[in-house]
Amino acid sequence: MKELVERLVVNRRLDNESLRALLTECTTDANVLQLLRDCAVRTAREQFGLGIYIRGLIEVSSYCRCDCLYCGLRRSNRSAERYRLTHDEIMACCREGYKLGFRTFVLQGGEDGTHTDRWLEELVRDIRQSYPDVAITLSLGERSEESYRALYEAGANRYLLRHEAANADLYDALHPTAKGLKNRLECLEALKRIGYQVGMGMMIGVKGQTIDDIVEDLQLIGRMQPQMVGIGPFMPHSSTPLGGEPAGDLRLTLAAVAITRLMLPSALIPSTTALATLSPIGRLEGILSGANVVMPNLSPSDIRAKYAIYENKASWGKEAAEGLAALDEELKTIGYHIDYSRGDFNNK
Ligand code: SAH
Repeated sequence: MKELVERLVVNRRLDNESLRALLTECTTDANVLQLLRDCAVRTAREQFGLGIYIRGLIEVSSYCRCDCLYCGLRRSNRSAERYRLTHDEIMACCREGYKLGFRTFVLQGGEDGTHTDRWLEELVRDIRQSYPDVAITLSLGERSEESYRALYEAGANRYLLRHEAANADLYDALHPTAKGLKNRLECLEALKRIGYQVGMGMMIGVKGQTIDDIVEDLQLIGRMQPQMVGIGPFMPHSSTPLGGEPAGDLRLTLAAVAITRLMLPSALIPSTTALATLSPIGRLEGILSGANVVMPNLSPSDIRAKYAIYENKASWGKEAAEGLAALDEELKTIGYHIDYSRGDFNNK
């Protein structure tokens, strides 16, 4: 196993068989997982030092036309409370975030049919004009290439669109109403073509996912070379068809994060909110597996609970924008600190 990890460090890739063996071993042999994570941390430190970038997450709408089996915002979830932030409310979040020191705003939401290109363009343009020095990241699901282009021209810089599953059968099983993996990947290609810094990723431990599927996910990420990669454990939501399933495995998630760091040394990799929700030390464990970004919640406090992609999602304390001092304190316990710069890929 040591030899496999060394090979991954040197070549930045491994064949399927080796990846499968390494992931499997990480769930049973703590020493192998530790070795892998140590290598990933060393690589991240070479790239980013001890600074952790922060992104202010604004959850713009909980309306969604999709019916993804795992997600609490799925349209079939009648018990979900829906809300949609207004233009002015989103601008107020940005104002607050800028004051707190955020230089990246992430606008994330369900696929809300009322979010027309025109409405979003005006919003992005307003943010761009008000805060010329921030990065604007969108995470609004699948849209047309035309739409992605218009939003890029309005001033957006980055787009997060996890591929969710590189295995087309698993993808279809999890996303009954979606347009399929092919369309998802075409969206990612379009975003890349337009010039966005692009984020991919997947959950670990969602029902039906095997180790081989994670291997496929990692190989797809290696081929696509995205600038950002989000990986977190699956977290059940009781009002979804997967509500009775167990949460994803912490060790396997950390192993996938560490392998991703070694495959893509300069990628921006968040220690995800799902990790912080799964374990009280999840956020630090992610950083100690090679992650270099955290995304505190900048949504208005009265709607945070309603953006429940899974239950008990952390959005307070160190996961909250107003908790940056506490986050910095926590990072200091492992020798890190918040890096308040914009944190573009390769500082572009
Ligand atoms: N509608 C946008 C944003 C989705 S929410 C889009 O389609 O991209 C952001 C991410 O949260 C998703 O990509 C998914 O991977 C993750 N997510 C959703 N439900 C989850 C759950 N139950 N557990 C863990 N992660 C989840």
